[in-house]
This record gives sequence, structure tokens and C-alpha cells, in this order.
Amino acid sequence: MKILVVDDEQFERRLIEKTLARLGHDIMTAKSGAEAWERIQQEHVRFVITDWNMPGVDGIQLIQKIRSSQLSGYVYVILVTSNDRSEEVVAGLYSGADDYLTKPFNPPELEARVAVGERVLTLEDNLVKAKQQLEKLAMVDSLTGLMNRRAIYKFTRGELERARRIADPISVIFLDIDKFKSINDHHGHLVGDEALKLVSQVIRQRSRTYDGVGRWAGDEFMVVLPGTRPQDAEKAAQRIIEGIATTPLVLPDNKSIQIHASAGVASIQKMTNASNLLDSLIQAADEALYRAKAAGGDQVQMDWL
Ligand code: GH3
Ligand code: MG
Repeated sequence: MKILVVDDEQFERRLIEKTLARLGHDIMTAKSGAEAWERIQQEHVRFVITDWNMPGVDGIQLIQKIRSSQLSGYVYVILVTSNDRSEEVVAGLYSGADDYLTKPFNPPELEARVAVGERVLTLEDNLVKAKQQLEKLAMVDSLTGLMNRRAIYKFTRGELERARRIADPISVIFLDIDKFKSINDHHGHLVGDEALKLVSQVIRQRSRTYDGVGRWAGDEFMVVLPGTRPQDAEKAAQRIIEGIATTPLVLPDNKSIQIHASAGVASIQKMTNASNLLDSLIQAADEALYRAKAAGGDQVQMDWL
């Protein structure tokens, strides 16, 4: 663990440093509160042991700076006081210290208190990891592994903004499986799920890595193609539709079924204004998809904005 030891007296710094270095900690030192505050901001310091009485920025002021700033992770602070008058200890803890030590301290106590701090920081690490995991799960469609509706919507919003900044074209494809209900009705919901997974794979394989692919709802998918002009987006949609039609779903009894899908494409040639375009683009692609369905399915229809 990287620990910053702050004390204006060299003897005290050395004492703490020697005790903790023996335990394998990576010790940094600062001679003043001001120097410590610089290092905390510049380096990723998560554990601070600071003396209370120092000229300039003292221990309490240093803690207050840490607590009132927007540092990326929690900083665990042990305050070192020269006596154990309970009102001083109480004031130190209220100012934001996590723990305290009184001088002269004995090494086993310092070790034990550092171990407590490490435990707290490990708990924080685990919480952060769990939160990141949850955030990731909240953006993924569990059946297909594609972005879910919320995630693809967010992705599209970001790409539209980027397209506007660099005056780039952008296209979206809405894709819906033809007569998907009859797959469910004839072969059951599990086979329906396999069909959704297979279609997802084909869309992924036939898209570029920087295209966004998401499951919009049920058997409806959305592909976002940054930097893609209408004609190329139409070709991309054709490529996906053909891929779906030529990739049969093999059933448990080794029979196979052919899946077809329809697509609606909406494109913006050159983005200059982003206001409300996201919903217009989605609506245009959805209307084009509706026309593709109405014309018999297994085809692509276009719309320009
Ligand atoms: P169309 O050709 O007009 O697209 O008709 P369709 O039969 O494909 O019907 P539609 O797209 O309106 O309906 C989609 C169906 O997808 C309805 C719903 O029961 C089914 N569905 C939605 N989510 C899932 C899922 O996660 N798994 C399975 N197996 N079926 C689903
Ligand atoms: Mg359908």
C-alpha cells in the first residue's frame, strides 16, 4: 500500500517510515501540509498519516482540504496527535480523520491501525468494482450480449454529437425479424431465443467494429453507423439482411429453419445541427422499416433526413 507520511519533524517521519517499510508498504514523505496536499492532488495517494501540529497547513487543515475536494477515490487518514486529550481526539475525528494515533506511538499499534485502514480501502475497492459491474450489466441485453435499448440510445446520442462537431454523415439501421411470432409459435420460445442470438451474431459479424449494435426491443435491432453515407448504409443493411437469410438456425433435431428480416435505414448526409435529430432519425428509420415490412419483408427501405 502506498502511504504518505506527513510530519515537519524528520525524526517522527523516519520512525513511521521505518516501521511501515518493514511491512512492505511503499512510503512517501512530505515535510509540510502544503507539500502533502500537492502530492495528494498529483499522485494517486489513498492513505495518509499526518501529524497535527505543523507550521502552515496543519494536519486538521490538510484533512479538511482532502474531504472538501473532488478526489477520485476515498483517502483514508490517520491523524497523529501529541497527546490523547479526548477533546482533541474528538475534534480530529470530526474534522474528517478516520483514526488517530498518539505520540509516542508503539509500532505494533501503528501496524494494527494501518491494517484497519487497508481493510476499509479494500471494502471501498470492492464497492467500486461492484458498482462498475452493475453499470455494465445495466447497459447490456442479457440474451444477446448486445447493447440494450438504453445503451444504444446513449451511443447514438454521442455519435450524433460527434457527427455534428466534425460535419460528418451518420446512418442508422432498424432491423426486425420477419414473422418472428411464428418461430415462437411453431418451435417454442427457447428456439425463438436462439433465433434472436443468431441474428445478433450475424449483425455483429456484418458490421464494422466501430458501429454500435443494440437490441431495441423484442425482435427489433438497431445499428448505428458513424461516418456512413446513405448509399453505404443501404449496402450495409443489405449485407446484414442477406447474412440473416443465408444463415439457417439449426434446431435440436438437426432440422434447420431459415430466418428473414427487414430493415429501414435513415441517414444524415452532413450534420450541422443536433437538436431533436436523434428522435427524428429513429422515427425515420422506423418508418422505413414499416415500408419494408408492408412491401413483403426481407428487404431494405431508405429514408434521408
Ligand atoms: P413482423 O413480420 O411484422 O415483424 O411480425 P412478427 O411475427 O415478427 O411480430 P412482431 O415483430 O410484432 O413480434 C415480435 C415477437 O417477439 C412478439 C414477442 O412474443 C416475441 N418476443 C419478444 N421478445 C422475445 C424474447 O426475448 N424471446 C422470444 N423467444 N420471443 C420474444
Ligand atoms: Mg418481427
